[in-house]
Amino acid sequence: MKEEMPERCISCGITLTGVGGARFPCPSCGTVIARCNKCKKQSNVYTCKACGFTGP
Ligand SMILES: [Zn+2]
Ligand SMILES: [Zn+2]
Repeated sequence: MKEEMPERCISCGITLTGVGGARFPCPSCGTVIARCNKCKKQSNVYTCKACGFTGP
């Protein structure tokens, strides 16, 4: 039994457990960013927590 940190969408803050979503590395610093399918579809703006990079 291992505890996994629930991932949250970087744009809307929804917990991605059971929702699905995409994970991708920040283009600037490589920190993994998670987004839900809705925000991915709508190309919502995200901000990297680590370096402050903003992108669609
Ligand atoms: Zn979202
Ligand atoms: Zn970054």
